[in-house]
Amino acid sequence: MIYREYGKTGESVSVVGFGGMRFESIDDTEACVGMMVRAAEAGVNYFDTAPGYFGTKSEQAYGAGLAELRRRGLPYYVSTKTFASNESGVRTEIEGQLERLGVDAIDFYHIWCITSLENWRERTRDGVLDVFRKLKDEGLIRHICVSSHLIGDEIRELLMEGVFEGVLFGYSPYNFSTRQKAFDAIRKHDLGCVVMNPLGGGLIPNNPDLFSFVKTRENESVVEASLRFLFAHEEITVSLVGFGNAWHVDEAISAVEGYEPISPARLEQIKAAASRSFDGICTGCGYCEGCPEEVPIPKLMDAYNQKLLHGDYQSLINRLKWHWNIPAEEAAKCIECGQCEEACTQHLDITGRLKEIVEAGTAAT
Ligand code: SF4
Ligand code: SF4
Repeated sequence: MIYREYGKTGESVSVVGFGGMRFESIDDTEACVGMMVRAAEAGVNYFDTAPGYFGTKSEQAYGAGLAELRRRGLPYYVSTKTFASNESGVRTEIEGQLERLGVDAIDFYHIWCITSLENWRERTRDGVLDVFRKLKDEGLIRHICVSSHLIGDEIRELLMEGVFEGVLFGYSPYNFSTRQKAFDAIRKHDLGCVVMNPLGGGLIPNNPDLFSFVKTRENESVVEASLRFLFAHEEITVSLVGFGNAWHVDEAISAVEGYEPISPARLEQIKAAASRSFDGICTGCGYCEGCPEEVPIPKLMDAYNQKLLHGDYQSLINRLKWHWNIPAEEAAKCIECGQCEEACTQHLDITGRLKEIVEAGTAAT
């Protein structure tokens, strides 16, 4: 296993983290615990969950898994999150989490899923940062972190707050260009950086030919290659993999064990190849930002990617709802000024896609 320092916290964490959002048999506690033990025995020590994964069942499974890790003397850090912002809401949430997880304190506690800077401002107005500071003083949490679906400059602005010890956001060979600017702030504040959805939420293993550009060796799978692409980023402390079964655990471990450093030049080649391979796919570069009608174009185009890759509009609607938390009607604000299409690095028919999104949203209601 490879370990990295989590920002300036002094904690040493495994480059592969256990994500608790994709258990294939969440009601089979023995299977969930077995996967956690298998990962920990291979050196994984970062275990992430959330109160909304399978309701609270993921945290409950973690409670059983962590107890087994303690019994076997296997070290771990536990990470979870809360949507709550005010004092009573956060306290009620964490009381339940400590009980479900069976621990006295949470190592990495996240203000969960900031979807826009306005959303962040609302939560700070509710006092979320003060509550988190108090919880830390009381020893109930060890490190204050934030998870976000912001892109580009927005993440950089969020992290400039200077209160966080670490950040969690989506990053993969499929959407790396949306989030690269965050690394400036991560370096500047010496933050831990955990990335989720490293396999594009299943897009990469399901489309191995499309993502073959990420391979640096003939004998590696596209999953191993994608994880190694992330390990090659020095700023990324942990790549969280949502494990469904024991085989997924083994593949991620094999990606670490067979890792050989990838040079910065090769990394750039892979990124350039990504842009070439994604014909018709929005790469999330963000060059189209600044719409006069404030249409969130990269987010809507990211959702449209799901339709292209999965071939149905429901995937698009799901992405808008569950990942970005924005309604399809946002696309209807477009007045077809053409500014974004002129700027688009992939020369996409953005206005046409926006119309399709509006229609898909109407059909889904
Ligand atoms: S074409 Fe539509 S989405 Fe693009 S910048 Fe103009 S108003 Fe915004
Ligand atoms: S729509 Fe075009 S310019 Fe905008 S993020 Fe996607 S690829 Fe980049």
